[in-house]
Amino acid sequence: MADSADSRPRGTTRSIGQVLALLRDDFPDVSISKIRFLESEGLIAPQRAASGYRRYAETDVDRLRYVLAVQREHYVPLKVIREHLEQIDILDRKTQATSRHDCGGLFVFIGADAETEWLPQEVARDARGYVLTGDDVIEAGRWSESRDPYLLESSVPGVFACGDVRLSPIKRVASAVGEGSMAIAFVHQYLKEAETPVAG
Ligand SMILES: Cc1cc2nc3c(=O)[nH]c(=O)nc-3n(C[C@H](O)[C@H](O)[C@H](O)COP(=O)(O)OP(=O)(O)OC[C@H]3O[C@@H](n4cnc5c(N)ncnc54)[C@H](O)[C@@H]3O)c2cc1C
Repeated sequence: MADSADSRPRGTTRSIGQVLALLRDDFPDVSISKIRFLESEGLIAPQRAASGYRRYAETDVDRLRYVLAVQREHYVPLKVIREHLEQIDILDRKTQATSRHDCGGLFVFIGADAETEWLPQEVARDARGYVLTGDDVIEAGRWSESRDPYLLESSVPGVFACGDVRLSPIKRVASAVGEGSMAIAFVHQYLKEAETPVAG
């Protein structure tokens, strides 16, 4: 049975026969000569073993999948597919201008938006929706109590924010977890002070 793409370490390589077996289910027409042709056109660049045989890395298999799918589904010429693989168009969302750049790889980082539209206006946020806490609340002129806000306290006294949704430069699992436990401690502190009558 052919190795599955997911079970192999990224650093290992395959023979052309293994690559063929891997691609056949999705691309029944693929052949060894087709894979060699795509190599001759510069779309993949397998390594050579000491014995001289080609060894295909995961990136070669990924590129082959892309080339075969785009050829089959969109009838795109190889020259254009090569551009897809070597260059990237970047859209500047502010100016709407598009520019093309050479690109050896792409790291996609998605899902980091602050989805806080549902919060009431009383909970102050920055222009991108991140919840202001502590000093940021004071700087924004959104604090009305005589005491300072706690580090994780929002513009609403007694309402705390932690993790990614809070305006802060650190967006990491460890800091979200740490801030979560700090927020609990602040809640206890807040409730304790709320119960304590102010000496006068
Ligand atoms: C692509 C990507 C890669 C990352 N890689 C790393 C990494 O390698 N290492 C690392 O440390 N950090 C990484 N991070 C950051 C890390 O995921 C976050 O810092 C961390 O998950 C923040 O935890 P959180 O609890 O604040 O928010 P989240 O993990 O986002 O949890 C918030 C939860 O609230 C839910 N929710 C939102 N709105 C509502 C609503 N109205 N009602 C009910 N539920 C709601 C969401 O569905 C979600 O489950 C990565 C983030 C992204 C996007």
